[in-house]
Amino acid sequence: MNQPINIFWLRRDLRLSDNTALYHALRSNLPVLPIFIFDKNILDHLENKTDARVEFIHETLSQIQEVLLAKGSSLKVLYDTPVNAFEHLASLYSIENVFTNHDYEPYAKTREQAVSDLFYKLGIKLLTFKDQVIFEKSEIAKDDGKPYTVFTPYSRKWKATFNEAPPTSFPSENYLDQFLTTTELKIPTLKEMGFQESEIHFPQKKVATELIQHYGEDRNFPGVEGTSRLGIHFRFGTISIRTAVARAMELSPVFLNELIWRDFYQMILWNFPHVGEGKAFKPAYDQIEWRTDDGEFDKWCNGQTGYPIVDAGMRQLNATGFMHNRVRMIVASFLCKHLLLDWRLGEAYFAEKLLDFDLASNNGGWQWAAGSGCDAAPYFRIFNPYLQTKNFDPDYTYIKEWVPEFEKASYPAPIVDHVAARKRCLETYSKALKGN
Ligand code: FAD
Repeated sequence: MNQPINIFWLRRDLRLSDNTALYHALRSNLPVLPIFIFDKNILDHLENKTDARVEFIHETLSQIQEVLLAKGSSLKVLYDTPVNAFEHLASLYSIENVFTNHDYEPYAKTREQAVSDLFYKLGIKLLTFKDQVIFEKSEIAKDDGKPYTVFTPYSRKWKATFNEAPPTSFPSENYLDQFLTTTELKIPTLKEMGFQESEIHFPQKKVATELIQHYGEDRNFPGVEGTSRLGIHFRFGTISIRTAVARAMELSPVFLNELIWRDFYQMILWNFPHVGEGKAFKPAYDQIEWRTDDGEFDKWCNGQTGYPIVDAGMRQLNATGFMHNRVRMIVASFLCKHLLLDWRLGEAYFAEKLLDFDLASNNGGWQWAAGSGCDAAPYFRIFNPYLQTKNFDPDYTYIKEWVPEFEKASYPAPIVDHVAARKRCLETYSKALKGN
């Protein structure tokens, strides 16, 4: 008879400190085996075999492994589908409970259902916890219980609720001795999973206090290092949102607001799951007759539109896996309004390239730009890329970094005329939205 154990299943919460599910697992009455599954259902669909996000996860797991080995325990990493992985684990251990943190994405929900069915058959209990947001699902709702669809009143209620009962932390780091004692369990290499290292450098987890203090003034200027670049760390849970919010509360209300936007979009995805299934938040926007033009789309992807601020953004994304938020708004607006190409094309391209890709925020950002989302830019507000440049990159610092040839003959002419594109966009949108 195998020794009874509990399992802690790491997913998008790759850290040992202030981790809700881990805290509860380690305080249970059984030794805990921590596991991570490199999910074949996801990895097999990644065409880019140098995807830096896989490398980031691998690197993070290796760091966690070092800590665990020093404690005489080990992380178990599997490369399989989750159902197969758990069937395998159940053949090795007598598992009583599996502890894990909530994930609100559509695939995560499907996956959870599949493993729940298996656990039911095997007599294993699945225990899940809120961890990656401060407030989830319907915790922040209107007085009539309906979900908010506008950010400002949501954020007001969010802050009031927080101030009434600030969330406690979950100091899992104090209980690391409760892991199962075992010899080292080897982590599969990237190569064994068909991947390779990328050339991309990952942003630091540490952010200077001065940066957060000046965030409100600097955050809109892509040529200034004025944002935290913590996106990837929030995405994979390498930092705790509770710790980050506590710091934001102390240092910068504007920074705090951005973290609340993150909660907001997760809340929208949960309450309006159709947005995660390729549909517009506002159904009328699915009537828009998007153009089809592979050539123009390629030029947008490759930073060859002849609009320097758009091209700089796309080149930054392609080279680093990051794009400044102001520029994300500009390139997104340009794709769906100037080029009248379906915002879902852009959303998918960002999903492939962004290190901090997160379905809820990415979809929220794209639908905001297209006008189809909750609390979105009205469709008739069309960003003027030249004006945006004048306001936010007046000395061309950012443009010069990414498009050094922008004032030279070799730089392409604009693929569309701003005035004509604006007119075409307004006509097409108003035709689709007539009566709405
Ligand atoms: P900072 O400005 O330092 O902000 C700190 C953190 O707050 C971010 O890391 C992020 O977690 C959160 N945050 C900031 N702005 C937003 C926002 N508008 N909505 C939600 N959360 C926010 N963010 C993602 O995390 N993943 C995405 O896939 C994503 N796609 C986007 C697509 C479009 C079209 C647009 C317009 C925005 C998108 N954003 C996305 C939001 C925002 O651009 C990024 O969070 C931000 O640029 C990340 O850089 P940073 O870490 O330096 O952020």
